[in-house]
Amino acid sequence: MKKLGNVIIIILLASTSLQAQRDFSTVEITSEKLTDNVYTLFGAGGNIGLAIGEDAAYLIDDQFGSLTEKIVAHVKTITDKPINFVLNTHMHGDHTGGNENLANAGALVIAHENVRKRMVSSEEPQPKEAWPVVTFNDKMTLHLKNGKSVHAMHVNPAHTDGDTYYYFPEDNVIHMGDNFFSGRYPYIDLNSEAILTG
Ligand SMILES: [Zn+2]
Repeated sequence: MKKLGNVIIIILLASTSLQAQRDFSTVEITSEKLTDNVYTLFGAGGNIGLAIGEDAAYLIDDQFGSLTEKIVAHVKTITDKPINFVLNTHMHGDHTGGNENLANAGALVIAHENVRKRMVSSEEPQPKEAWPVVTFNDKMTLHLKNGKSVHAMHVNPAHTDGDTYYYFPEDNVIHMGDNFFSGRYPYIDLNSEAILTG
């Protein structure tokens, strides 16, 4: 059993601002190598996880659609593997805004079933192409061809009702989504069925 203290936590920025209100022209995508085949990317919005398998690259969240080109270009500086999988931590626009572009480029979008439900029923729904194609209701494991794995685990309503963390046991990395905020109190999105108890 690995100690939590040794786990590398991918810290996410909190931003639910609408893309329309933002100017992304000056945003630069940067990255940090965490292990041999796991990276985190920084830009605008929730941080992105990148895992590189033998034949494919896996993205966890994809920030905003206006940044997809820059994100893909940055991934290409790290790996020539195609982004075949996108895993969402929850439905907020700064985590799913690139889904449509990446799906149109051939990626399979995977998320908790409540992420899809909320994206489908939203008053301002993203296009169908952005919606998760594969959903799970509790947990799921993706097996990479390099012998490593990604474990998805839905957590009880916390930040939203679709929060998932993704854990790379062989790399000792966990991607928390907005379940974790660095240096400030967590944001509880009551409009997305997060639950406050007291
Ligand atoms: Zn969020």
